[in-house]
Order: sequence, then structure tokens, then C-alpha cells
Amino acid sequence: VAKNAGKGQWRRYDPSLHTAMVRRLELRAALDEAVAAGALTLEYQPIVDLRSGLTAGFEALVRWEHPERGRLLPDNFIEVAEESGLIVPMGTWVLRQALAEAAAWQRATRDAPYVSINVSVHQFRSPGFVAGVRRAVADAGVPPDRLLLEITESLLLRDDDQIWDDLVELRRAGIRVAIDDFGTGYSSLSYLRHVPLDALKIDRLFTSTIASSGQQAVLVDGIIRLAQTLGLQVIAEGIERPSERDMLARFGCRYGQGFLFSPPLSAEQALEWLTATPATVLSGR
Ligand code: C2E
Ligand code: MG
Ligand code: MG
Ligand code: MG
Repeated sequence: VAKNAGKGQWRRYDPSLHTAMVRRLELRAALDEAVAAGALTLEYQPIVDLRSGLTAGFEALVRWEHPERGRLLPDNFIEVAEESGLIVPMGTWVLRQALAEAAAWQRATRDAPYVSINVSVHQFRSPGFVAGVRRAVADAGVPPDRLLLEITESLLLRDDDQIWDDLVELRRAGIRVAIDDFGTGYSSLSYLRHVPLDALKIDRLFTSTIASSGQQAVLVDGIIRLAQTLGLQVIAEGIERPSERDMLARFGCRYGQGFLFSPPLSAEQALEWLTATPATVLSGR
């Protein structure tokens, strides 16, 4: 900090800033170690067909088994991983691990569910990303349409032709792409018309308010209609109540995930979920 101060980057000494910086550096070093030492794990949250109750897919969600702090959720470390570039090796690990799991589901069931992974902006834009994904899919022996990549609105807002070309190439290879947390960013609905996409995930923020707010319900209804017009599949996030599930289904939303159905599961639990009678998962509405 003293050196930086000499360069005029710090106008005055702020101990809380210093502490925060040291904590970030520590976190970064620990995460670096964790990625190398295999301290990351994945959980899988079922994505359910709201009509039939059958499992459509699982979203892979990363966790960090921290030696002192216990199991950490991604909100505690994704940002640091992005800033430091660690997200790239981490993302590669997530991709390969999730595909290995998808291959296991394929062996266990005839109609295998897809696996969905979250891809950060930095990871998507890293050199060789698309080639790496295609190679990982081939190595795992999983049909490409059993992989869904969740990207964010912020990626699409970048004025970068390469992103566009990459999306087109991924989809040509049969890999599917969804826009995650839809409605929380700044992409306009009309813009969506041009983006090469397969699915749209409605953010939990909307799901959690449709039952209590008529205005939100109208908005979500509109988003679903638009998505259908554009030929996009719709997946609602964060369904916690039967009333939310019922409204979304009535609006024509086909898929959903949330605590109402299941929290994120360990790989073993996900296999059990898959082999359990799907009809008991969702009782009739
Ligand atoms: P996301 O992609 O929107 O994932 C959904 C989040 O909502 C997950 O949080 C999930 O556990 C939580 N959730 C699911 N159902 C419900 C519900 O009914 N109610 C509530 N309140 N929450 C629900 P999680 O696992 O903490 O992940 C947070 C975010 O971290 C994810 O949001 C995603 O953006 C990011 N993330 C997770 N795994 C990865 C990864 O491997 N790579 C990258 N780049 N980001 C990841
Ligand atoms: Mg997601
Ligand atoms: Mg999401
Ligand atoms: Mg979300």
C-alpha cells in the first residue's frame, strides 16, 4: 500500500480499504489452492417440466469446501474468481465435472436430462472457450444438446462480434444457450429477437412477486409470450410456492426450478432423484 501511495493511487490511508484488499488477496490465494486441490464441488438443482413433473435437467452450482469457513456459496467467491482470472480454470473444471455427471445420468436413464452450467463473461471471452466446450462435450460422450450454457445479459450487451460468432458456433454444434436471470439486466425485449439463443430463464425476483403483484404478473405473462413467439424455451427460477408454479404454468411457462421442487442436490442425490418415480415429484394441481 505504501508503494501504491507513492504512485498517488491512494489519496489517504484508509485502514478498512486495506483490510478489504488483504482479505481479497487471501481469498484469491486460497481459491487458487482450492481449484488446484479439488476443494470445489458441484450441486445439481432439478429443473422440472411443470406439466408432467418430469425432470428436464439439472443446473450445476459450484460450492467451495473451505477448510475454515465451511461450505461457501458462489456469491462469496465468484467475483474474486472473475477479477483474478481464476474463473477460467474453475469454469473448465465445472464444465468437465458437470459433463461427467451428465454421462452418468445417461448411463442410468434412457431419457437423460440435460446439465446446465453458468458461464461468466470473462470465461466466455477467454481464448479458445468454444473449442474447449466442444472438446469437453466430445470427451464426455454426451450428446451436445444435453449441455445448456447459461450466459448473462451483460455478456450480450458488449459490443463484440466475437461473442456473436461464438454463440452461433456453439448452437451450430448443437450446444444450447440460455440467458440467465432474465429481467435483471438492461437488455430490451426487442433486442432478444436477434440474439442466437435457445432458452430464457426468468429471474427469481419475478417469480417471487407474481402471486402478490398484478403488475408483476402482467409483466411475466408478457415475457413468457414474447419468449414463445421467439421460439425460446422458458425456465422460471426460484419457485417456492404452489401458487407461483400454478400461475407460471397458466402463463405457458414450461419449466421451473426452485425449493418447491428441490434444493440443489449432491451428485448422489441427483441420481436418486432421477431414479425415483417422477410422478411423485409433482402431485397434480
Ligand atoms: P443462478 O444461476 O441464478 O442460480 C440460481 C441460484 O438460486 C442458486 O444459488 C440456487 O441455489 C438458488 N435457488 C434455487 N432455487 C431457489 C429458490 O426457490 N429460492 C431461493 N431463494 N433461491 C433459490 P447459488 O447456488 O448460491 O448460486 C448463486 C449464483 O452463483 C448463480 O445464480 C450463478 O450466477 C452463480 N454460479 C453458480 N455456480 C457457478 C459456476 O459454476 N460458474 C459461474 N460463473 N457462476 C456460478
Ligand atoms: Mg444459472
Ligand atoms: Mg439464474
Ligand atoms: Mg437468478
